[in-house]
Amino acid sequence: MLPPGSTIGILGGGQLGRMMAVAALQLGYRVIGFAPEGDNVAADACSGFITADWNNAEALSAFAAACDVVTWEFENVPVSTVQALPSPLLACPVKALEVAQDRFHEKHFAASLGGSPAPYARVETDEDFAAALIRIGTPGILKTAREGYDGKGQWRVRSEMEASGIRLPGVPCVYEGFVTYETEFSVILVRGQDGSVKFWDSTANLHEGGMLARSLLPAGAVVEAQVPAARELAAKVAAELRYVGVLTLEFFATREGPVFNEMAPRVHNSGHWTIEGAATSQFENHIRAICGLPLGGTKTRFSSIEMRNIVGEEALQAHTILAEPGEPHLHLYGKREAREGRKMGHITRVGHALK
Ligand code: AMP
Repeated sequence: MLPPGSTIGILGGGQLGRMMAVAALQLGYRVIGFAPEGDNVAADACSGFITADWNNAEALSAFAAACDVVTWEFENVPVSTVQALPSPLLACPVKALEVAQDRFHEKHFAASLGGSPAPYARVETDEDFAAALIRIGTPGILKTAREGYDGKGQWRVRSEMEASGIRLPGVPCVYEGFVTYETEFSVILVRGQDGSVKFWDSTANLHEGGMLARSLLPAGAVVEAQVPAARELAAKVAAELRYVGVLTLEFFATREGPVFNEMAPRVHNSGHWTIEGAATSQFENHIRAICGLPLGGTKTRFSSIEMRNIVGEEALQAHTILAEPGEPHLHLYGKREAREGRKMGHITRVGHALK
């Protein structure tokens, strides 16, 4: 168990790091962040923050010297950055990042453990794309294999005709069949250093423009029926990666069962409701796991829960939400610029308390 007063290093400077840091502070730890130049809102909650490029060896060794354990809040931290740190500092093997950073690798990995992704193919050349269209057909989605998020780096392909108008972006892509689903849902688990696993309830996730808009509990009968199979896959993924901390897998609930979409080796937007809505939040349990503390319970505390993201300029008026009935819980991430489509905060509303 990492003693109180120890220092947790977080790679990445976004809102997930900020909320992780708040949980770490509550447990008596100090936090040092590391990220390149940017709107690093995690820095507000850190006692130190190193702003440097991911490959700045000097800055990384200063960071390592200041930390007792290191975790990440962002799945695109370069693997080489993590490998440059002394391995005893790492809370979790870097393989989780390697797998999650490449959509092709990630789907292959999930399939090798019994998961069912949508039909997919690697596309680097026009010939690959043509072959993928023949095998998988349309409609489908072309996605950059790396670095896409919140629907960015994705192109819907409704027909052959539309496909012929697409110019490949010049980086490796994955083409996948379009899934007809009832709902999207996520499985969020925490795995301790001893291999024990706890799951939070799965929310139904509603997306707008490829980005999560709302997460709801109860998730409904369709999702609930598919959660056991989805959890089985998530636990296998976590065990295979020798994962420590919070891990998220996203699924489409289809008539044929859960279709694996992607994984995030970190806390997740669809788990923000756990701050008020569960016995222990995803952020606190992540910190507990990486510090070797006993994991907290994950039970849902209310009859219903809705988490809604606050996006773009809506944040400028967000404090008015506090006057609305139903005691909404408001979280703002302190971002300096309310750009369109940018996650600025979230609101959680809960129903009546469960016994
Ligand atoms: P992703 O970045 O892969 O999570 O995609 C963002 C969102 O786009 C997903 O949450 C879905 O709403 C939608 N989407 C992505 N892939 C597919 C697919 N193969 N079929 C249907 N919808 C998809």
